[in-house]
Amino acid sequence: MGGVSNTVRQVVVVGGGSAGWLTAAVLAAEHGPSAGGRLKVTLLESPDIGPIGVGEGTWPTMRDTLRTVGVSETDLFRHCDAAFKQGSRFDGWVDGSPADHYHHPFVLPQGYTEARLAAAWLQQHASAVPFADLVSFQPHLCAQGRAPKQATTPEYAAVANYGYHFDAGKFGLLLKRHCIETLGVEHLVDHVVGIHSHDNGDIASLQTQALGAVAADLFVDCTGLASLLLGRHYGVEFVSQRHVLFNDSALAVQVPYVREDSAIASQTIATAQEAGWVWDIGLPTRRGVGHVYSSAHTSDDAAEAALRQYVQRTGGPKDMPSPRKLSFQPGYRRKFWHHNCVAIGLAAGFVEPLEASALALVELSAALLSDEMPATREAMDIVAQRFNDSFRYRWERVIDFLKLHYALTRRSDSAYWRDHVADEHVPARLRELLLLWRHRPPSRRDFDRVEELFPSASYQYVLFGMGFRPEPGAYAQARDDAERADRYFREAATLTRKMLPALPANRELIEHIQRHGMLRV
Ligand SMILES: Cc1cc2nc3c(=O)[nH]c(=O)nc-3n(C[C@H](O)[C@H](O)[C@H](O)COP(=O)(O)OP(=O)(O)OC[C@H]3O[C@@H](n4cnc5c(N)ncnc54)[C@H](O)[C@@H]3O)c2cc1C
Repeated sequence: MGGVSNTVRQVVVVGGGSAGWLTAAVLAAEHGPSAGGRLKVTLLESPDIGPIGVGEGTWPTMRDTLRTVGVSETDLFRHCDAAFKQGSRFDGWVDGSPADHYHHPFVLPQGYTEARLAAAWLQQHASAVPFADLVSFQPHLCAQGRAPKQATTPEYAAVANYGYHFDAGKFGLLLKRHCIETLGVEHLVDHVVGIHSHDNGDIASLQTQALGAVAADLFVDCTGLASLLLGRHYGVEFVSQRHVLFNDSALAVQVPYVREDSAIASQTIATAQEAGWVWDIGLPTRRGVGHVYSSAHTSDDAAEAALRQYVQRTGGPKDMPSPRKLSFQPGYRRKFWHHNCVAIGLAAGFVEPLEASALALVELSAALLSDEMPATREAMDIVAQRFNDSFRYRWERVIDFLKLHYALTRRSDSAYWRDHVADEHVPARLRELLLLWRHRPPSRRDFDRVEELFPSASYQYVLFGMGFRPEPGAYAQARDDAERADRYFREAATLTRKMLPALPANRELIEHIQRHGMLRV
């Protein structure tokens, strides 16, 4: 193949899963003809391989992403079986006893940057009230199944910070329609069977079965776990995280509600099992339930039996349909951008969906690519290096944060939980932080990059939720500090009292939105 054109005018996104359509939408909304830009965005997907069809929990960041690309929130609720998500609840992770649970809500603790809340909680309240329940109103909204806004709150605005639970397949279809009909994305359906290269190693075009060669200046690999361009073509090394996060398998199933008007949970519920955990996500028409587990610690049959038991125990049918099995290697690619190819979504990496970080990473990747879209091939290597630095750091932080959920467990009922606390399975940086936190709580200085995925507040929620306690006498504070913290604890309690009667139940608000829509601004 011949020479490389210098100006970047055409981008081909390969893959029509959530990652592909989200990336195409972000690029077209910012640089495409509908935005007065000159970038041509094409999405190419195989007719033979469907999207993975799981990935039903998002972060609050998804609200910004959808608003930016121009999707109406009402459409999301009408077409994607969407519900509100206000965080996660972890059941059975600390010691496995019946009452064992803690919350990781989406809102920051009340007065988080103004007072030393952790110190005041430890000294005066830790034996009586869980940290999250004292510093935030949101666990109480979740416990009562409240919605995070009122019927009069406009699209994408919130009374309490929220993300979504939705049907992943329907979400892809909504984005696809929006990309094609509104944002001017060209849609090609064909199977990629080969890759043509320029002399310098860049990809010149993709050979398809029926449409011939599809050329572009930049290729976005959204081909899922196949990682067709970055992994298979370029052979960019896969950095396994199996020694830290053991889970590599999942069984997913859809479960009907007991009654049509059953309450819809306000949070993802993650319940610890003998060799993994079960996710439980409430949508308006059904629950999405799945068991994520380590194939080195249990068998598929035992994992399915545990899932059936969970489904029955939580009101699901005795004759649960056969679950769908998914297998993955936990880890990520050494680089995400190589030559003129950048991987986003599962093609870049995947680890267990414990904090639903995969779609958040897709959003961040698409946003960085769009913000830094290189105008020329010459500029591309500089942008690629910055992209790689940024996402290597982010993947490492995701691993650390997910591992925090395991590293402090007191469970010792199976090899899985015993292995999780062994030093050799805990990343060095997390071990160092845990040592520092014995003397002072997680602080912003521990996570000082712009757009950190998990702020120090999230670490505090999980750390104290998991029962971590500092050295005796540590986290000391002056009296006026304690008084200031107490003011914020009272403020959180007042907000709880005000919000509980003022916010509708999830199902009530969702049905209202489906019928009447939301106010658009
Ligand atoms: C069990 C499980 C649970 C998860 N839960 C969550 C969650 O709660 N929250 C969250 O954020 N994420 C979650 N994820 C991750 C989430 O599912 C993915 O990040 C998301 O769906 C994006 O997938 P994708 O678009 O990268 O890949 P896919 O959906 O697999 O799409 C791949 C695309 O590539 C195309 N393709 C492949 N080969 C070719 C070829 N040769 N030619 C042309 N096209 C090709 C296919 O046609 C397809 O369109 C979960 C993942 C798993 C496995």
